[in-house]
Amino acid sequence: MSEFVQNLMADVKAKNPCEPEFHQAVEEVAESLALVLDRHPEYRSAKILERIIEPERVIMFRVPWLDDQGIVQVNRGFRIEMNSAIGPYKGGLRFHPSVNLGILKFLAFEQVFKNSLTTLPMGGGKGGCDFDPKGKSDNEVMRFCQSFMTELQRHIGPNTDVPAGDIGVGGREIGFLFGQYKKIRNEFTGVLTGKGLNWGGSLIRPEATGYGAVYFAAEMIATKGESLQGKTCLVSGSGNVAQYSVEKINQLGGKAVSLSDSSGYIYDDEGISSEKLQFVMELKNIRRGRIKEYAEKYSSAVYTPLDPASDFNPLWNHKAACAFPSATQNEINGKDAQNLLNNGVYVVSEGANMPTTLDGVKLFLDAGILYGPGKAANAGGVAVSGLEMTQNSMRLPWAREEVDQRLQQIMKNIHKTCVDVTERFDTPGNYVNGANIGGFLKVADAMLDQGVV
Ligand code: NAP
Repeated sequence: MSEFVQNLMADVKAKNPCEPEFHQAVEEVAESLALVLDRHPEYRSAKILERIIEPERVIMFRVPWLDDQGIVQVNRGFRIEMNSAIGPYKGGLRFHPSVNLGILKFLAFEQVFKNSLTTLPMGGGKGGCDFDPKGKSDNEVMRFCQSFMTELQRHIGPNTDVPAGDIGVGGREIGFLFGQYKKIRNEFTGVLTGKGLNWGGSLIRPEATGYGAVYFAAEMIATKGESLQGKTCLVSGSGNVAQYSVEKINQLGGKAVSLSDSSGYIYDDEGISSEKLQFVMELKNIRRGRIKEYAEKYSSAVYTPLDPASDFNPLWNHKAACAFPSATQNEINGKDAQNLLNNGVYVVSEGANMPTTLDGVKLFLDAGILYGPGKAANAGGVAVSGLEMTQNSMRLPWAREEVDQRLQQIMKNIHKTCVDVTERFDTPGNYVNGANIGGFLKVADAMLDQGVV
C-alpha cells in the first residue's frame, strides 16, 4: 500500500469508525486513483478524492409501522446522497436486516463511479432500511413501504434523487413506494425506477443487471478470441440479478450450474435450463420459497446447506470457466478466490456489489484472469434505470429490442472505457483500475468545473 493510500485510509478509518465495508470500498478505489493523482496534481490540490469520500448528505430516519397483529414495529431508514456532480443522485434501496450506515455508504460510494461509467447523467446515492421483507405478509410490506416513503418523499424527486430497487426491493416494493409518493406529492413523475410496465416502467429493467453482467463477461472473453458458448458458469444468489444472469448465459450458449440463497446452494450438473429457471422465478418471486426446493424438484441437483462455521463457500469449489457472484458483498473471500482459480475459473463478472474481499481481488489480479469488478460489470441495471428516466421525461416508452440494444452498447462502451484507461495508465488487463479511474475522471472534472461545493 502506498504512503498516500495509508494516510488516506488512516483518516477514513478515524472519521468513519465501525464501517468496514466503506473502508474496503474506499481502499480499493484509492489504490487505483494513486496512479491518477500522480499525473494530475490539480485533483490533489482541489481535494477531489477527499470530497468524493464525504457524502453530500446523509439522511437517517425512524420508520414505524404496524404488523398484522397490531404491534408497533420500528425500523431505521437511510438515504445517502453521495455525489451530484454529473446528475441527480441515483441508486437503489436495500431492505435487509444487515443494512447499516457503513454498508449503504460503501454502496453509495461505488455507485458514483458506476453511474459515471454508464455515460448517462446520473450522480450517486443509495438507501434502505434494516427491515426484513422475508416472512412478512404483503400487507405488512405495504404498510412498511408507506411509512418509509412518508419520510423519504421530502428528500427525493425526479430532478433531485431517483431511488430504485436492490436486495429485498423488487417490483412489489417499488409499487408500494411509488403509490405513497404519488399520494403525498400529488404528482406522477419518474421519481423511482424499476416501476411496473403499465405505470412508467421500462422494458428490460428487470433483466438489465443480470444481462449486463453477462454482456460484460462476453466482452472480456472476446478479448481472448473466445465466446461463452459451452462454458460452465457458477452463479450465486437466486434473486433478480442471478435469475437474469442465468437466462442470458443460457441464451449465449453457456451452462449455468449453481444458484444460492442465504440458507445454502444448489449445484445442477445438467445445467439450469430455461424450464428450470421458470421454476426458480416462480419459487423466488411469487411463492418466496427457499432454493432448497430446487433440489427436491430436480434430481440432477444437489443441495448443500450453508455452514456458518466454515471459512470458505463450497459453491466456489467446482470446476468451471466463469463465475457470476450475484448475491451480496464479500461472498468470495481469499480462500474462495483461490478455489475458483484452482478449479479453472478465468472469468469473474460481478453482478453483486463488492462480492470479493480485497485479498480475493488481489489473487484474481495477480493471476491475470478476466476479472470484471461490480462497478463495471453490474452497471447495466442503473444504465437501464437511466433509460427509464429518459423515457419518463419524454413520456414515450421504447420497444424491448431498442432498450436491449442500448444496454448492450452501454456495456460495450464501459468495457472499452476500462480497456482504454488501463492502457493509458500502463496497467493493461486490470479492469479494477479501468473501472475506478474511468468512473472517477468524469466526476472529478465536473467537480473542478463547479468549484468548492
Ligand atoms: P435480490 O433479488 O433481493 O436477491 C438477493 C439474493 O442474494 C437472494 O438470493 C438472497 O438470498 C441472497 N443474499 C442476500 N444477502 C445474502 C447474504 N448476506 N448471504 C447470502 N445470500 C444473500 O437482490 P438483487 O437485486 O438480485 O441483488 C443482488 C446483488 O446485486 C446485490 O449485491 C445488489 O447490490 C447487486 N445489484 C443489484 C442491482 C439490481 O438492479 N437489482 C443492480 C446492481 C447491483 P435470501 O433470499 O436468502 O436473502
